[in-house]
Amino acid sequence: MDINVTEEVENSLKDNGLKKEEIQEIIEAAKTKGSKLKSRSEDTYIAKGGSENLTVYAVYTPSSNGAINLNNVYTHKMNVNGPTGGEIGEVEYDDESDWICDKCNEVALQRNVDMNYLGVSRPGPALVCPKCNETYVTQGVASTLKTAESILEEKRA
Ligand SMILES: [Zn+2]
Repeated sequence: MDINVTEEVENSLKDNGLKKEEIQEIIEAAKTKGSKLKSRSEDTYIAKGGSENLTVYAVYTPSSNGAINLNNVYTHKMNVNGPTGGEIGEVEYDDESDWICDKCNEVALQRNVDMNYLGVSRPGPALVCPKCNETYVTQGVASTLKTAESILEEKRA
């Protein structure tokens, strides 16, 4: 699988300390496991992967002859634990998002989830598949999380 990146995305990879090969692995793994979202309006996907300490998202569009165009990458270090207030079903506010869980073909819902970092837990908005409970953080939220992560890291230091 070939990955096409613009200079901007190339820089974003560098900023996040990521290699193109890692993104390729994440996209391949997401294909097998189905841990990706599909846009409801365009041919765009968000694949989720990474490690326990760093969640990586790759936004991409399939291109001709099996290659993909990588539109964006973003990351967060916070761990997402699950819906705030415990079990699914107890959450009252569920707006539909513009994304579909690729595994279940269900529209992902906007929900508050508990996020943990350096022993601190705080609620934050995420996209959650109502069937498999897989959670995804949007790019906008991820950049907010980055700020929160820095503040927590400074406090700890
Ligand atoms: Zn699902």
